Amino acid sequence: MLTHEFDVVVVGGSLAGCTTATLLARKGLKVALIENRVQASDYKHLCTHFIQASAVPVMRRLGIDRLIEEAGAVRNSFEIHTPYGWVGDHLGSDQDGRPLHGYNIRRSKLDPIMRSMASATQGVTMMSGWSIQGLVEQEGRIAGVKLTSEDRQVTLRSPLLVAADGRNSPLATLAGIKTKSAPNRRFAIFAPMRHVDLRRGNTSQMWLTGSETAYIFPNDDDVAVVAWISPRENLDACRGRALEALIERIRSLPDAQQLQNAEPIDQVLTVKDYPNLWRPPVVRGMALVGDAAMSIDYMWGIGCGWAFQSAALLSDNIGAAIAKQRDWVGDAALRHYQRQHAKMFAGHRFLINDFSNRLSLNAIEKLMFSAATKDARMARHLSRFVARIDGPMKFLAPAALLQAVWTNLLRANASPHGTRSHTPPL
Ligand SMILES: Cc1cc2nc3c(=O)[nH]c(=O)nc-3n(C[C@H](O)[C@H](O)[C@H](O)COP(=O)(O)OP(=O)(O)OC[C@H]3O[C@@H](n4cnc5c(N)ncnc54)[C@H](O)[C@@H]3O)c2cc1C
Repeated sequence: MLTHEFDVVVVGGSLAGCTTATLLARKGLKVALIENRVQASDYKHLCTHFIQASAVPVMRRLGIDRLIEEAGAVRNSFEIHTPYGWVGDHLGSDQDGRPLHGYNIRRSKLDPIMRSMASATQGVTMMSGWSIQGLVEQEGRIAGVKLTSEDRQVTLRSPLLVAADGRNSPLATLAGIKTKSAPNRRFAIFAPMRHVDLRRGNTSQMWLTGSETAYIFPNDDDVAVVAWISPRENLDACRGRALEALIERIRSLPDAQQLQNAEPIDQVLTVKDYPNLWRPPVVRGMALVGDAAMSIDYMWGIGCGWAFQSAALLSDNIGAAIAKQRDWVGDAALRHYQRQHAKMFAGHRFLINDFSNRLSLNAIEKLMFSAATKDARMARHLSRFVARIDGPMKFLAPAALLQAVWTNLLRANASPHGTRSHTPPL
C-alpha cells in the first residue's frame, strides 16, 4: 500500500473541513483534504441554511463572503415573534461601523463553493471519493489514516489528523471516542419554497411560542426555506401530510405569511429525532471540528457558523504555535484549542441542551423576551445573543437581568408591535 506524508490530514470536505484545510494551507502547511462524496455538486441536504452573524468574520477571512454574495447569498437580519410581541432586528454594527449580519445561502451553492475554494488553495491536496478504512496509531497518538477508493488503497501519515467528518464522525468511532448526548423533544418539517409572500423583504422571521418554533428564511434565487419545529407528540398527526401540516401551522401564526402561492421546489424533509451530541475536541493528538465535535439542536441555526468558527479556532492555535516556532503539533496548541473550544461553545451548549428537553419558556427567557419587545437596547442585547455574537455570560449578566426587570416594570404598556419597525424593510 502506498504511503504519503502530509503536515495535516483533514477528513470531511464540508464547511469545517474546507475552512480548516484552507486556513492551514495558507500558513504554509501541506494539507490533504479527504471527502468521500464524489460529485463536485454534492451538498448537505439537512440544513435550513441560516448562517449566524458570529461566523461572518471567519467567512471574510476566507474570502467566501464575496464568492457567496456573487452567487446570490442574502445578508440576513432577523425578527422574532415571542408570546409578548415582536423583537426587531437590532444587531447594530461591528467595530468598523459595518452593519452586523449573517448569511442565507442554500447548501447546494455553498458546499461546492467551499470545496472549490479549498481545492484551489496552494498546499491543499483534495482527495474526493476516498473514505476512511482505518487509523494509523503510533506511540498512543493517532498518526494517520488508511483510505480506500474503489479498488485503491493508500495510507496518509501526518503529525495532525483533523476530524471534520460531521455529526456521526466515522473517525471518532474508529478512535473509540465516547459521544455524549442529550435528548431533543422536538421534530422538524421544512421545505424550500418559491413564491412565498415575503412582506418583509429579505428579513428572516422566527416565531417562538416556547413549545414550538417556525421560520421563514429568504435565501438566494428567491427561494425561502419554511420550517416548523414542534413537540414530538405532534409527529403522528403529520404523517403522510407533512407539507399540509407545515403550511397550516405557518398560516395560523400571528402576523405570518399565508403561503397561498408557495410551492416547494424540492423534497419536504422531516427530521424525527435529533438528539444533541458532543465529543471532546482533542483526543490522542486528533482534533475534532464542526459537527464532529458538537452537533446540537438545529433549532437555533448554529451548526454552520460554529463549523466555520471552530475550524478557525483550531487553525489559529496551530498558526500561533508555528509563529512562535514551537513544535506546532505539540500538545500545547491542541490543549489551547480544547480550552478555547469549551470557552466559546460549552455555555451555549448547556443552555441549548436545556431548551431541547423543555417545552416551555423558563422565567429568565420570559423576562428577557418580554423586555426585548419593549426596548430597543434590550432587543439588541437579545439579538446579539441569538446571533451568537455574545455568549451566555454576557447575556445573563446581573446588570442585564436587572435592566430587563426595570424595562418590564417601566414599560408595561409598550407598543403592540414590539421593537420591530412598522414599516416593511425596502
Ligand atoms: C434539519 C437541520 C437543519 C439545520 N439548519 C441549520 C441552519 O439553518 N443553520 C446552521 O448553522 N446549521 C444548521 N444545521 C446544522 C448544520 O447543517 C451543520 O452543523 C453543519 O453542516 C456542520 O458542518 P460540518 O462541516 O461540521 O459537517 P458536515 O456539513 O456534516 O460535513 C461532514 C463532511 O464529512 C464527509 N464525510 C463523512 N464521513 C466521511 C468519511 N468517512 N470519509 C470522508 N469524508 C467523510 C461528508 O461527506 C461531509 O461532506 C442544521 C441541521 C439539521 C439536521
